[in-house]
Amino acid sequence: KELTSSQVRKMYLDFFQSKGHSIEPSASLVPVNDPTLLWINSGVATLKKYFDGSVVPENPRITNAQKSIRTNDIENVGKTARHHTMFEMLGNFSIGDYFKTEAIHWAWEFLTSPEWMAFDPEKLYVTVYPKDTEAKRIWHEEIGLTMEHIIDIEDNFWDIGAGPCGPDSEIFYDRGEAFNDVAEDDPENYPGGENERYLEIWNLVFSEFNHQADGSYEPLPHKNIDTGMGLERMVSIVQNAPTNFETDLFLPIIHAVEKLSGKVAYGDSPQTNISFKVIADHIRALSFAIGDGALPSNEGRGYVLRRLLRRAVMHGKKLGIDEAFLYKLVPVVGNIMVSYYPEVLQQQEFIEKVVRTEEERFHETINEGLAILNEVISNVKAENQTTLNGKDIFKLYDTYGFPVELTEEVAEDEGLKVDHEGFEKEMQAQRERARAARSTEISMGVQSALLTDIKVESSFVGYSETEYTSSLLV
Ligand code: ATP
Ligand code: MG
Ligand code: MG
Ligand code: MG
Repeated sequence: KELTSSQVRKMYLDFFQSKGHSIEPSASLVPVNDPTLLWINSGVATLKKYFDGSVVPENPRITNAQKSIRTNDIENVGKTARHHTMFEMLGNFSIGDYFKTEAIHWAWEFLTSPEWMAFDPEKLYVTVYPKDTEAKRIWHEEIGLTMEHIIDIEDNFWDIGAGPCGPDSEIFYDRGEAFNDVAEDDPENYPGGENERYLEIWNLVFSEFNHQADGSYEPLPHKNIDTGMGLERMVSIVQNAPTNFETDLFLPIIHAVEKLSGKVAYGDSPQTNISFKVIADHIRALSFAIGDGALPSNEGRGYVLRRLLRRAVMHGKKLGIDEAFLYKLVPVVGNIMVSYYPEVLQQQEFIEKVVRTEEERFHETINEGLAILNEVISNVKAENQTTLNGKDIFKLYDTYGFPVELTEEVAEDEGLKVDHEGFEKEMQAQRERARAARSTEISMGVQSALLTDIKVESSFVGYSETEYTSSLLV
């Protein structure tokens, strides 16, 4: 008998409760009292108050299942087997209480004990920070992993440049040769590489230093543990699903989209599969984010939602769905998640209304954009040109919110080429402007940058250039 996603989530929380942890409910995706953070992007993000000492928890051992959104992974959705916009991070935390030994032993027990996940130990690999000889020793001598299953990774130092930091150790599950990315000898196919064969499931962070303003590292008075495990990835393993999407967390949404399409079935082609996955992922993120009080708009969080919705609508078009449909998926999402997150069903009507209004507005935008595009096209033709230039494509995209894919489709139908390079140039300039804006945002609070989106991009990846004072460790 196969475990359901609800069971896996519950088992994780039960396990850590049995180890003396208190269960904290998931907090809102919208950060509370934290202007430096766009979205809650990890379990630790909502527990910051305990880690920085501003609130003392009743129990220094905490466990949670936390809704998280990572905007840096939106482009990965549907292309990789393992990335979502919104996912659940399961975590156990020690606020100056237990440290490395317990964190590693408990992780191993949860994953391999027949009473819990019962994973085959042969399938598990861990990465460690090369100078973290203590973690290596624990994995090897106390847990009994062979050295072939312990991989040094220079990047395994969690450090965002300020505040608590330290080495980390990540756990990977070998999904087997069938999951090798490209060629069997692809150099990326190793535990710790960005690949699907060795699926990263859990990150254990051993936070023991304070990265100070002068660049030095000082041992923290209290060492902390912060871990994060991806629920959807765990479920893909226990349900033997090729990707996170063929699990009970996503299949009902995908089947509902099949019905709405009536033309394309899941599995018909790799291209349309991506569309199903993107739609399922995005409506989940939209439903929860709107349920948590975010609304589509032209900036910040709202802009993220607007983009997610528009992408989902465009993928709907690829499946032959030409009218508002996403709102019909809200109750499907709500029902899948109701056992732990009743909030979507509780606000179903409101969420549906927001999604539907936004979808219908976008359809109007598309129609207006089409009118402008047709004008551009007739000008190009009148001048005997054969290519739409990058500036025009960008303007349609940036000013009118008109999707580039659609521009290309229409242009091709008209026998015109599009200047990809020119468009990319404009996009690049746009990204630079965004980056400049973001770094201003970050410099506003260095300490609290601990949990900004900067963390999303570099999260648990660390900086290999980091000056690590090994003397502090040994
Ligand atoms: P990856 O290398 O696969 O992108 P990550 O190293 O960025 O993952 P962490 O920051 O270490 O991920 O987060 C802890 C755990 O959360 C990961 O081990 C993974 O199980 C899960 N996770 C992270 N990002 C995502 C995502 N976008 N979708 C689903 N699960 C995720
Ligand atoms: Mg990542
Ligand atoms: Mg990783
Ligand atoms: Mg990681």
